[in-house]
Amino acid sequence: MLIGICGAGTMGAGIAVAAIQNGHDALLFDIQQTSRERGEAFINKQIEKAVARKIMTREAADAALARYAFTDKLEDFSKCEVVIEAVVERRDVKDQLFAKLEEILPETAILATNTSSISIASLAAELKHPSRFIGMHFFNPAHIMKLVEVIRGPKTSPEVVETTVALAKSLRKSPAVAADVPGFIVNRVARNFYNEAQRICTENTATIEQVDNIMKNAGFRMGPFELMDLIGVDTNLEVTKSVWAQYFNEPRFQPSLMQQQYVDAKMWGRKTGEGFYKYDQDGNKVER
Ligand code: NAD
Repeated sequence: MLIGICGAGTMGAGIAVAAIQNGHDALLFDIQQTSRERGEAFINKQIEKAVARKIMTREAADAALARYAFTDKLEDFSKCEVVIEAVVERRDVKDQLFAKLEEILPETAILATNTSSISIASLAAELKHPSRFIGMHFFNPAHIMKLVEVIRGPKTSPEVVETTVALAKSLRKSPAVAADVPGFIVNRVARNFYNEAQRICTENTATIEQVDNIMKNAGFRMGPFELMDLIGVDTNLEVTKSVWAQYFNEPRFQPSLMQQQYVDAKMWGRKTGEGFYKYDQDGNKVER
């Protein structure tokens, strides 16, 4: 299947790896040259890693690498059977992109969004063909994490749900059909993981490192600050703001000023080399 991917950042590049490793073709579009370059480097690196770890043979890797391309013309998406949108978590940007895509895509193509929090119903409300619109929420790193939340809007057709679930399975994912509520399942539960951790630090109850270490000793794979650095501190804040607003400013979801300050300073985590921690070019933590 030819999968169009809009946005070649943290998620779009990971989704492309999942697609090409599993026999699909991927066409990527991003408005920023730096994202296109970083995305391409990321995809190539992950495929080479899969060879080094003997997850893929050299032949399979070469075939996978030949199955993706970047385009700077959205019109090229006219050949896509599915488009997965993974641009910034901003309602206005997504709405504008969907309006353009609707002009280009064949009516049979599925339009999926990787939004972390924005209501599928409200995004679909702006579309000419809401029956083909669906949430397909991957987790980071998208080529590794098994879970994909599939979110049906009020007008999504049953066939589109079925095809999207089958597509997720073809990517060797475990799809879970989730209700269309702000943050769906995982990002609603996870808000407390990030927000409470930041409250603890702003109260001076514990340091960032202490919170992360305690959570890891309690069995979590990563601490909340390490995870925000992986996700993107900026993206994570947009998600918190979006969930908070959609729950009518419910206090337990209120964003933290601490996080806003990191975002303002462009300390967005691994993608900018520094967030709550510092990173080298390969994304490994380094001493401050
Ligand atoms: P990112 O900032 O890493 O990448 C976003 C990319 O979108 C950038 O490369 C940017 O240049 C590009 N972009 C912006 N406007 C565009 C447009 N009009 N057309 C094409 N490209 C455009 O963000 P991300 O972390 O990859 O997040 C993308 C989406 O995935 C968001 O909706 C986010 O909520 C969701 N998501 C993120 C994570 C995560 O852990 N980061 C997990 C699940 C879902």
